[in-house]
Amino acid sequence: MAGRIAQTFIDDLLDRLDIVDVIDRRVKLKKSGKNYSARCPFHDEKTPSFSVNPDKQFYYCFGCGAGGNAIGFVMDYENIDFPQAVETLASHAGLQVVREQLTQHEQQREEKRSGLYPILEQASRFFQSQLRRHPAAGQAVAYLKGRGLTGVIAQRYGLGFAPPGWDNLISALAGPEDSDEYEEQLQLLLQAGLIIENDQGRRYDRFRNRIVYPIRDQRGRVIAFGGRVLGDDKPKYLNSPETDVFHKGRELYGLFEARKSGRDLNKLVVVEGYMDVIALAQHDIPFATATLGTATSEQHLDRIYRICPEVVFCFDGDEAGRKAAFRALEATLPTLTDGREARFLFLPEGEDPDTIVRGMGTDHFLNLIDHGTPMEEFLFDTLGQDLDLTAPAGRARLAQAALPMMALIPPGIYKQLVFQALAERTGMAVGDLKTLVDTLPVYQPAPPPITGGEPELQPRQREPLPVVETKKPTAFRNLTESAIRMLLHHPESVRSLSDSDPLHGIDDPDVMFLREIIALLQKRPDSNTATLLGYWHGTPQGELLNRLSGQENLLPKDGVGSEFSDLVRHLGQLPERQDQAAQVDKMKDPYYADLSEDEKLKIKLDFQRRLQLKARK
Ligand SMILES: [Zn+2]
Repeated sequence: MAGRIAQTFIDDLLDRLDIVDVIDRRVKLKKSGKNYSARCPFHDEKTPSFSVNPDKQFYYCFGCGAGGNAIGFVMDYENIDFPQAVETLASHAGLQVVREQLTQHEQQREEKRSGLYPILEQASRFFQSQLRRHPAAGQAVAYLKGRGLTGVIAQRYGLGFAPPGWDNLISALAGPEDSDEYEEQLQLLLQAGLIIENDQGRRYDRFRNRIVYPIRDQRGRVIAFGGRVLGDDKPKYLNSPETDVFHKGRELYGLFEARKSGRDLNKLVVVEGYMDVIALAQHDIPFATATLGTATSEQHLDRIYRICPEVVFCFDGDEAGRKAAFRALEATLPTLTDGREARFLFLPEGEDPDTIVRGMGTDHFLNLIDHGTPMEEFLFDTLGQDLDLTAPAGRARLAQAALPMMALIPPGIYKQLVFQALAERTGMAVGDLKTLVDTLPVYQPAPPPITGGEPELQPRQREPLPVVETKKPTAFRNLTESAIRMLLHHPESVRSLSDSDPLHGIDDPDVMFLREIIALLQKRPDSNTATLLGYWHGTPQGELLNRLSGQENLLPKDGVGSEFSDLVRHLGQLPERQDQAAQVDKMKDPYYADLSEDEKLKIKLDFQRRLQLKARK
């Protein structure tokens, strides 16, 4: 069972990544001094206040306070959780994520999640059996046969039939209503997205009178279903909702089956629907896959390119198909490192892969795939379609439109070749085109259309920071923030501390956080700015660290280590000093005025002695 990602792996990953590269692949950066800057993706702004520090591997936005390391950036930019961000970055770096053993608590949680897999598997088997034996399955069988599918393929893809009626699945899987497991099974069915509960608390099957297609994850486990309508019901295609085990934006239908096909995969074809995937497999093209009602994302492409070096997108030739293809192109550009390839194939209107492969045969379709339009040609053709490229002005406009998109391609030979291709089309020199890139605005892909599901790949938006800091600074806060700032930028300063803990027993929250950082650095002395930011990313303490990361200019020029230990010692004495100050105030109190001079002196000496004792510790 998969455990938590090992901290050593996270440190190793951060070591190998360059945050400039990670961010630049998503938001175009410009060099500015020793740092890089851009317009912040997390809040709306006209002038760049987003800054990336290559030496210490962190980013910070002076406008909205967003900040963190490379992993934190990917989490917030792609709106994904920590393990997903680590997976994404690790796969890009060609690393396999290393995980730790699970604790008992984690194991229980994981088991709860994995309780969904058996019920989904049972449902899949139920649907398959209904396709074979339910009296109403005739129409479904006729439909599949009509599309030329054999039993072998239907079985390989686990095709099934959800009979008409409201509770076929419920009664098959939850048993009679008075049984012991009934309620428990219903809960699992609900969590797995297989049944629906209406406002009156009535539960009923989600898939009714539909052909169902099990959606499997990379390990072959059923995680969801797609259903195609047989009657006149709407919608024509219906997918399971998002659940603990099913995340639409990440999954690709047919990918598991493609890998299981035993073929040496050197390319994958991305088509639009389940039926296309299956029809191609029926015609000996088992390497097709489809997104699940979402646009192609960078995550999809990362997944594909992990398996093979080439992807061919196959879309309808109509306007909607071309738009979808252009979105796929936008997602592809940042993933096109050297050795990877993307092609686009547009089908004549009214045709789909299914009709073509059935009408014209396997070889014809393979030939079409092999002659798909190369990425850069599709890019230049699309951007140039309404331009007069015989005129210099038209060619200039093509360069203007294409260059910001080309900037998304990771540096390498391939990028160079795309520049050459544009140079040929525009008659401009490659060098001139490269100079031009820096003068053009950063490319912003169009926001994804709202399709009812949760938005994908939308950076988490933040409010701009208030102009005036709202929290009232206290003596503790000022000193602790200075200390944390020093540790954050110079974690090695922790070595200047002696073994005793002068901050022990101070219950100020800021000081307690400082002690946490010190303890962490003593335990893991190799931590650096980026790893520190990572530990608290997304927490209130993380926000403080982000802000302090942007205050490098407030650090002492040199001797940070000794300044740090002085500061901590001073902090340790602060409660006594405050006590003493309070005592002095008290002595001005009329009550104390009655004390004799001797008594006053005694109190004063007593405090001084305690202070010295404390300082010596
Ligand atoms: Zn910002």
